[in-house]
Amino acid sequence: MKYITHNLEETQKVAHEFVDYIFSHQNDKKISGATIVGLYGDLGAGKTSFTQGVARALGIDETIVSPTFVIEKIYELPLQGRPFVHFIHIDAYRLEHSSELVSLGWQKIISDPTNLIFIEWPERVGDIMPEHIKINLEHTADGGRQIETFS
Ligand code: ADP
Ligand code: MG
Repeated sequence: MKYITHNLEETQKVAHEFVDYIFSHQNDKKISGATIVGLYGDLGAGKTSFTQGVARALGIDETIVSPTFVIEKIYELPLQGRPFVHFIHIDAYRLEHSSELVSLGWQKIISDPTNLIFIEWPERVGDIMPEHIKINLEHTADGGRQIETFS
């Protein structure tokens, strides 16, 4: 997947399409455990905005705030968000060490297949990241954003 977006609304539309993609590929997932999406990219690239679009697409009404100061937020999904039961938004930016995430129950969270996890700055905790879908967001020269999956 590769998109160029020119504003927040377009980015959230891409997020919506990405949710459809995850749902349609849920059954051919080979790895067990949670579905994990890593959001890579600089400050202001749109990682939180993208996550907000995902949350809305999942039917979460609650406003998704940047979890920078709380590290992790867990949302219960309404029925339309199923097969997942929980949507978990993590921002690893301020973590000094991946053991801090382990203390928050990381191993349990990633082993539960009903969890859908979106994590900003996954490279900060690269040593404990299991296999995950990788999305890179970056600024384009004209003020837009490029959003693409990579492996
Ligand atoms: P990050 O979480 O990567 O630090 P945020 O999502 O918090 O980034 O912030 C992105 C900022 O850029 C928001 O203020 C948003 O309104 C703005 N913005 C401008 N153009 C876009 C775009 N095409 N996609 C996403 N955000 C955009
Ligand atoms: Mg952010």
